[in-house]
Amino acid sequence: MMNLLDGKLAAEAIKTALKLQVAERQAAGKKIPHLAAILVGNNGASATYVAAKVKACEQIGFISSLIRLDEGVSQHTLLETIRSLNQDPDVDGILVQLPLPAHISEQEVIDTLDPNKDVDGFHPVNVGRMVLGASGFIPATPLGIMLLLSHFRIDTKGMNAVVIGRSNIVGRPMSILLSAQSHPGNCTVTLCHSKTKDLIGHCRQADLVVAALGKPLFLTADMVKEGAIVIDVGITRINDASRKNGFRILGDVDFESVAPRCSWITPVPGGVGPMTIAALMKNTFLACSQK
Ligand code: NAP
Repeated sequence: MMNLLDGKLAAEAIKTALKLQVAERQAAGKKIPHLAAILVGNNGASATYVAAKVKACEQIGFISSLIRLDEGVSQHTLLETIRSLNQDPDVDGILVQLPLPAHISEQEVIDTLDPNKDVDGFHPVNVGRMVLGASGFIPATPLGIMLLLSHFRIDTKGMNAVVIGRSNIVGRPMSILLSAQSHPGNCTVTLCHSKTKDLIGHCRQADLVVAALGKPLFLTADMVKEGAIVIDVGITRINDASRKNGFRILGDVDFESVAPRCSWITPVPGGVGPMTIAALMKNTFLACSQK
């Protein structure tokens, strides 16, 4: 029987718990978490993601600051903005919404963040800590997926997991977390990418598939084992004149054909997306509370 991995539900539970923890801190006269978000340019999708993060802060009771910079901002100005947030004792977490315009080096931006405020978990120090299984910030999307599995008490121990996509923000950290000696975790992981031979064969062997490649409806029923768990990370905007906002969102999984074969599956929207935001909120709380 197919069960829905309802990310909206799980994310609400996490945010409600955080709201209580914030209220407790406030009552004890402790600092309230403060997230500063930097948005460069006018990319519609990026603006929507940042707005959702700011809204989540408001919902939980965090302080948030949104710093909007022009598309043509120099790398120097952006790095100086980050350095000043690094120095600001009131700011606990900093996120720079990616992607950035082509004239800016994303790696230099990430390297400039104070690792103790890097709530997106992209700084090399945090990546290293994650690989070692040491405490630090874990990238929000893979952390959100781990929290989702945990919320629905899914025991992944011993499973064959296939992750499709090896980006630094989703696929690669996901493969590391699923293979870690943890719960959830303890999977035998195959990390697939565009050069993988026999991707279909790998997927058909998998007890757990994480699709994070950005190719709408890529994973079809013939690629999925009966009873598998399927996590769809993909978000692609497709023009749709019949919608009020002019687009609809497609995931990397052909939900209609794949869902009947699954034991658990995430919807899009309402699966990994809300969990990513909830995980970012958890990281921001951690940044504040471990000061
Ligand atoms: P990315 O940086 O573009 O990476 C895509 C990865 O998929 C690459 O490793 C690429 O392989 C691999 N790939 C592409 N086509 C493939 C194919 N036909 N077969 C096998 N592998 C293939 O993307 P990303 O940033 O990881 O994002 C992936 C998707 O997740 C996007 O739709 C993005 O919008 C979405 N996303 C969602 C959330 C959320 O909160 N739900 C968060 C982040 C991202 P190579 O390395 O060989 O090129």
